[in-house]
Amino acid sequence: MQNDALHEPDQALHVEDLTVTYGDVPALWDIDLDVPPGVMCAIVGPNGSGKSTLLKAALGLVRPVAGHVRFLGRVASQMRGRIGYVPQRQSVDWDFPTTARDVVEMGLYHRLGWLRRPGRRERARAIDALAEVGMQDYASRQISQLSGGQQQRVFIARALVQDAPILILDEPMAGVDATTEDVIMTLLKRQRDAGKTVIVVHHDLTTLRRNFDWMVILNRRIIAQGPVDQVYTVDNLRAAYGRQLAVIAASGTAGSPP
Ligand code: ADP
Ligand code: MG
Repeated sequence: MQNDALHEPDQALHVEDLTVTYGDVPALWDIDLDVPPGVMCAIVGPNGSGKSTLLKAALGLVRPVAGHVRFLGRVASQMRGRIGYVPQRQSVDWDFPTTARDVVEMGLYHRLGWLRRPGRRERARAIDALAEVGMQDYASRQISQLSGGQQQRVFIARALVQDAPILILDEPMAGVDATTEDVIMTLLKRQRDAGKTVIVVHHDLTTLRRNFDWMVILNRRIIAQGPVDQVYTVDNLRAAYGRQLAVIAASGTAGSPP
Protein backbone atom coordinates (compact mmCIF):
# COMPACT_ATOMS: atom_id res chain seq x y z
CA MET A 1 0.00 0.00 0.00
CA GLN A 2 1.31 3.43 -0.86
CA ASN A 3 1.92 5.70 2.06
CA ASP A 4 -0.13 8.57 0.68
CA ALA A 5 -3.13 6.43 -0.34
CA LEU A 6 -6.14 6.84 1.90
CA HIS A 7 -7.02 3.64 3.69
CA GLU A 8 -10.28 3.26 5.63
CA PRO A 9 -10.95 7.05 5.51
CA ASP A 10 -14.39 6.59 7.09
CA GLN A 11 -12.89 5.51 10.42
CA ALA A 12 -11.47 8.05 12.85
CA LEU A 13 -9.05 5.34 13.94
CA HIS A 14 -8.36 2.12 12.08
CA VAL A 15 -5.86 -0.40 13.46
CA GLU A 16 -4.99 -3.58 11.61
CA ASP A 17 -2.93 -6.59 12.76
CA LEU A 18 -1.00 -4.45 15.23
CA THR A 19 1.60 -6.22 17.36
CA VAL A 20 4.00 -4.33 19.65
CA THR A 21 6.74 -5.87 21.78
CA TYR A 22 9.18 -4.42 24.27
CA GLY A 23 12.23 -6.63 23.93
CA ASP A 24 10.75 -10.08 23.52
CA VAL A 25 7.63 -9.39 25.54
CA PRO A 26 4.46 -8.67 23.56
CA ALA A 27 2.53 -5.68 24.92
CA LEU A 28 -0.10 -5.81 22.17
CA TRP A 29 -0.95 -8.85 20.15
CA ASP A 30 -2.64 -8.73 16.75
CA ILE A 31 -4.96 -5.81 17.42
CA ASP A 32 -7.76 -5.01 14.98
CA LEU A 33 -9.72 -1.94 15.91
CA ASP A 34 -12.06 0.65 14.46
CA VAL A 35 -13.33 3.80 16.10
CA PRO A 36 -15.92 5.70 14.03
CA PRO A 37 -15.79 9.48 13.82
CA GLY A 38 -17.80 11.63 16.23
CA VAL A 39 -17.87 9.24 19.19
CA MET A 40 -16.50 9.53 22.68
CA CYS A 41 -14.59 6.26 23.03
CA ALA A 42 -13.20 4.80 26.27
CA ILE A 43 -10.27 2.40 26.20
CA VAL A 44 -10.29 0.24 29.33
CA GLY A 45 -8.28 -2.69 30.64
CA PRO A 46 -6.23 -3.60 33.69
CA ASN A 47 -2.84 -2.07 34.49
CA GLY A 48 -0.23 -3.15 32.00
CA SER A 49 -2.80 -4.28 29.44
CA GLY A 50 -1.23 -2.12 26.74
CA LYS A 51 -3.56 0.89 26.70
CA SER A 52 -0.81 3.51 26.62
CA THR A 53 1.18 1.40 24.19
CA LEU A 54 -1.80 1.26 21.85
CA LEU A 55 -2.04 5.06 21.80
CA LYS A 56 1.70 5.51 21.36
CA ALA A 57 1.91 2.96 18.57
CA ALA A 58 -1.08 4.57 16.84
CA LEU A 59 0.63 7.97 17.06
CA GLY A 60 3.91 6.59 15.74
CA LEU A 61 5.73 7.13 19.05
CA VAL A 62 6.41 3.41 19.45
CA ARG A 63 7.34 1.27 16.49
CA PRO A 64 5.20 -1.85 16.06
CA VAL A 65 6.67 -5.16 14.91
CA ALA A 66 3.64 -5.66 12.68
CA GLY A 67 0.47 -3.96 11.55
CA HIS A 68 -0.61 -0.50 10.56
CA VAL A 69 -2.74 2.35 11.80
CA ARG A 70 -4.75 5.08 10.07
CA PHE A 71 -6.48 8.20 11.33
CA LEU A 72 -9.24 9.29 8.94
CA GLY A 73 -7.42 7.23 6.34
CA ARG A 74 -3.96 8.66 6.95
CA VAL A 75 -0.87 7.64 8.87
CA ALA A 76 -0.13 9.71 11.99
CA SER A 77 2.78 11.52 10.34
CA GLN A 78 0.36 12.91 7.73
CA MET A 79 -1.92 14.17 10.50
CA ARG A 80 0.39 16.80 11.97
CA GLY A 81 -1.62 19.22 14.03
CA ARG A 82 -4.83 17.28 13.43
CA ILE A 83 -4.53 15.05 16.47
CA GLY A 84 -4.50 16.49 19.98
CA TYR A 85 -2.68 14.15 22.37
CA VAL A 86 -2.52 14.35 26.15
CA PRO A 87 -0.04 11.75 27.41
CA GLN A 88 -0.37 9.96 30.74
CA ARG A 89 0.70 12.39 33.44
CA GLN A 90 3.51 10.33 34.95
CA SER A 91 5.26 10.35 31.59
CA VAL A 92 5.74 14.12 31.52
CA ASP A 93 8.57 16.03 33.18
CA TRP A 94 6.75 18.70 35.18
CA ASP A 95 9.84 20.55 36.34
CA PHE A 96 10.71 22.35 33.15
CA PRO A 97 10.67 26.12 33.62
CA THR A 98 7.73 27.24 31.53
CA THR A 99 4.40 28.92 32.08
CA ALA A 100 0.94 27.49 31.54
CA ARG A 101 0.52 29.73 28.49
CA ASP A 102 3.84 28.54 27.00
CA VAL A 103 2.67 24.95 27.31
CA VAL A 104 -0.58 25.71 25.50
CA GLU A 105 1.25 27.62 22.75
CA MET A 106 3.33 24.50 22.12
CA GLY A 107 0.12 23.06 20.71
CA LEU A 108 0.43 25.60 17.86
CA TYR A 109 4.09 24.94 16.99
CA HIS A 110 3.26 22.65 14.13
CA ARG A 111 1.72 25.68 12.42
CA LEU A 112 4.35 28.17 13.42
CA GLY A 113 7.38 26.04 12.82
CA TRP A 114 9.71 25.53 15.73
CA LEU A 115 11.75 28.68 15.22
CA ARG A 116 8.99 31.25 14.96
CA ARG A 117 7.85 32.95 18.10
CA PRO A 118 4.10 33.03 18.69
CA GLY A 119 2.45 36.34 17.80
CA ARG A 120 -0.52 38.14 19.25
CA ARG A 121 -3.07 35.89 17.55
CA GLU A 122 -1.46 32.72 18.89
CA ARG A 123 -1.26 34.24 22.37
CA ALA A 124 -4.98 35.05 22.23
CA ARG A 125 -5.82 31.53 21.13
CA ALA A 126 -3.78 30.08 23.96
CA ILE A 127 -5.62 32.26 26.48
CA ASP A 128 -8.98 31.19 24.99
CA ALA A 129 -8.00 27.53 25.35
CA LEU A 130 -6.94 28.14 28.96
CA ALA A 131 -10.31 29.79 29.58
CA GLU A 132 -12.05 26.73 28.17
CA VAL A 133 -10.50 24.61 30.90
CA GLY A 134 -11.03 27.29 33.56
CA MET A 135 -7.31 28.13 33.85
CA GLN A 136 -7.15 31.64 32.37
CA ASP A 137 -6.09 33.14 35.71
CA TYR A 138 -3.03 30.90 35.79
CA ALA A 139 -1.62 31.75 32.36
CA SER A 140 1.63 33.20 33.74
CA ARG A 141 2.10 30.59 36.45
CA GLN A 142 5.00 28.14 36.19
CA ILE A 143 3.65 24.73 35.30
CA SER A 144 5.57 23.15 38.20
CA GLN A 145 3.67 25.38 40.62
CA LEU A 146 0.26 24.06 39.64
CA SER A 147 -1.60 21.19 41.26
CA GLY A 148 -1.89 17.89 39.42
CA GLY A 149 -5.43 18.61 38.28
CA GLN A 150 -4.45 22.09 37.11
CA GLN A 151 -1.48 20.75 35.16
CA GLN A 152 -3.76 18.24 33.53
CA ARG A 153 -6.17 20.99 32.48
CA VAL A 154 -3.31 22.96 30.95
CA PHE A 155 -2.25 19.95 28.90
CA ILE A 156 -5.82 19.48 27.77
CA ALA A 157 -5.85 23.15 26.71
CA ARG A 158 -2.71 22.44 24.68
CA ALA A 159 -4.61 19.69 22.86
CA LEU A 160 -7.70 21.90 22.39
CA VAL A 161 -5.85 24.92 20.99
CA GLN A 162 -5.11 22.98 17.81
CA ASP A 163 -8.82 22.56 17.09
CA ALA A 164 -7.95 19.06 15.91
CA PRO A 165 -10.64 16.65 14.66
CA ILE A 166 -9.23 13.87 16.85
CA LEU A 167 -8.40 14.10 20.55
CA ILE A 168 -6.53 11.34 22.34
CA LEU A 169 -6.11 11.43 26.11
CA ASP A 170 -4.32 8.91 28.30
CA GLU A 171 -5.99 8.72 31.73
CA PRO A 172 -6.83 12.42 31.93
CA MET A 173 -8.85 11.89 35.13
CA ALA A 174 -6.15 10.00 37.03
CA GLY A 175 -5.27 11.78 40.26
CA VAL A 176 -7.57 14.76 39.73
CA ASP A 177 -10.34 15.82 42.13
CA ALA A 178 -14.03 15.27 41.40
CA THR A 179 -14.60 18.88 40.31
CA THR A 180 -11.77 18.76 37.80
CA GLU A 181 -13.03 15.41 36.55
CA ASP A 182 -16.45 16.98 35.90
CA VAL A 183 -14.86 19.94 34.14
CA ILE A 184 -12.78 17.66 31.92
CA MET A 185 -15.64 15.28 31.14
CA THR A 186 -18.03 18.14 30.23
CA LEU A 187 -15.40 19.68 28.02
CA LEU A 188 -14.68 16.41 26.22
CA LYS A 189 -18.36 15.78 25.63
CA ARG A 190 -18.65 19.26 24.15
CA GLN A 191 -15.84 18.38 21.74
CA ARG A 192 -17.66 15.19 20.80
CA ASP A 193 -20.92 17.11 20.32
CA ALA A 194 -19.04 19.45 17.99
CA GLY A 195 -18.28 16.43 15.80
CA LYS A 196 -14.80 15.55 17.01
CA THR A 197 -13.63 12.07 17.87
CA VAL A 198 -12.51 11.78 21.48
CA ILE A 199 -10.52 8.71 22.51
CA VAL A 200 -9.80 8.38 26.22
CA VAL A 201 -7.97 5.76 28.25
CA HIS A 202 -10.28 5.70 31.23
CA HIS A 203 -9.74 3.82 34.49
CA ASP A 204 -13.08 4.35 36.20
CA LEU A 205 -15.71 1.83 35.18
CA THR A 206 -18.41 3.54 37.29
CA THR A 207 -18.46 6.71 35.22
CA LEU A 208 -18.04 4.99 31.90
CA ARG A 209 -21.59 4.24 30.81
CA ARG A 210 -22.75 7.72 31.73
CA ASN A 211 -20.12 9.50 29.68
CA PHE A 212 -19.00 7.38 26.75
CA ASP A 213 -20.84 6.05 23.73
CA TRP A 214 -18.15 3.73 22.39
CA MET A 215 -15.67 1.48 24.17
CA VAL A 216 -12.73 -0.82 23.65
CA ILE A 217 -11.79 -3.48 26.22
CA LEU A 218 -8.16 -4.43 26.00
CA ASN A 219 -5.87 -6.94 27.61
CA ARG A 220 -2.95 -7.28 25.23
CA ARG A 221 -5.59 -8.44 22.79
CA ILE A 222 -8.93 -6.88 22.02
CA ILE A 223 -11.55 -8.40 24.31
CA ALA A 224 -14.45 -6.42 22.86
CA GLN A 225 -15.19 -3.18 21.03
CA GLY A 226 -18.30 -1.30 19.97
CA PRO A 227 -21.16 0.77 21.40
CA VAL A 228 -21.02 0.95 25.21
CA ASP A 229 -24.52 -0.49 25.69
CA GLN A 230 -23.49 -3.63 23.81
CA VAL A 231 -19.93 -4.04 25.05
CA TYR A 232 -20.18 -3.10 28.74
CA THR A 233 -21.14 -6.56 30.06
CA VAL A 234 -20.00 -8.65 33.03
CA ASP A 235 -18.62 -11.30 30.71
CA ASN A 236 -16.51 -8.86 28.73
CA LEU A 237 -15.22 -7.03 31.78
CA ARG A 238 -14.44 -10.29 33.55
CA ALA A 239 -12.58 -11.50 30.48
CA ALA A 240 -10.33 -8.46 30.76
CA TYR A 241 -10.04 -7.96 34.51
CA GLY A 242 -10.52 -11.53 35.77
CA ARG A 243 -10.86 -11.72 39.53
CA GLN A 244 -9.78 -8.09 39.86
CA LEU A 245 -13.26 -7.10 38.72
CA ALA A 246 -14.84 -8.12 42.03
CA VAL A 247 -12.18 -6.19 43.91
CA ILE A 248 -12.69 -3.10 41.79
CA ALA A 249 -16.45 -3.29 42.33
CA ALA A 250 -16.16 -3.95 46.08
CA SER A 251 -13.72 -1.09 46.64
CA GLY A 252 -16.24 1.31 45.21
CA THR A 253 -13.99 2.52 42.43
CA ALA A 254 -16.28 0.80 39.97
CA GLY A 255 -19.97 0.05 40.12
CA SER A 256 -21.37 -3.34 39.43
CA PRO A 257 -21.73 -3.94 35.75
CA PRO A 258 -25.18 -4.79 34.44
P1 ADP B 1 -1.27 0.32 30.41
O1 ADP B 1 -1.22 1.70 29.85
O2 ADP B 1 -2.47 -0.46 30.00
O3 ADP B 1 -1.09 0.29 31.89
P2 ADP B 1 1.27 0.01 29.03
O4 ADP B 1 0.97 0.15 27.59
O5 ADP B 1 1.89 1.16 29.73
O6 ADP B 1 -0.04 -0.51 29.79
O7 ADP B 1 2.23 -1.24 29.22
C1 ADP B 1 1.96 -2.51 28.66
C2 ADP B 1 3.09 -3.47 29.05
O8 ADP B 1 4.29 -3.08 28.43
C3 ADP B 1 3.37 -3.51 30.55
O9 ADP B 1 3.72 -4.82 30.91
C4 ADP B 1 4.53 -2.56 30.70
O10 ADP B 1 5.31 -2.91 31.82
C5 ADP B 1 5.28 -2.77 29.41
N1 ADP B 1 5.98 -1.55 28.97
C6 ADP B 1 5.43 -0.35 28.74
N2 ADP B 1 6.34 0.54 28.31
C7 ADP B 1 7.51 -0.11 28.28
C8 ADP B 1 8.86 0.26 27.91
N3 ADP B 1 9.15 1.50 27.50
N4 ADP B 1 9.80 -0.70 28.00
C9 ADP B 1 9.51 -1.95 28.40
N5 ADP B 1 8.29 -2.37 28.76
C10 ADP B 1 7.30 -1.47 28.70
MG1 MG C 1 -1.09 3.55 30.69
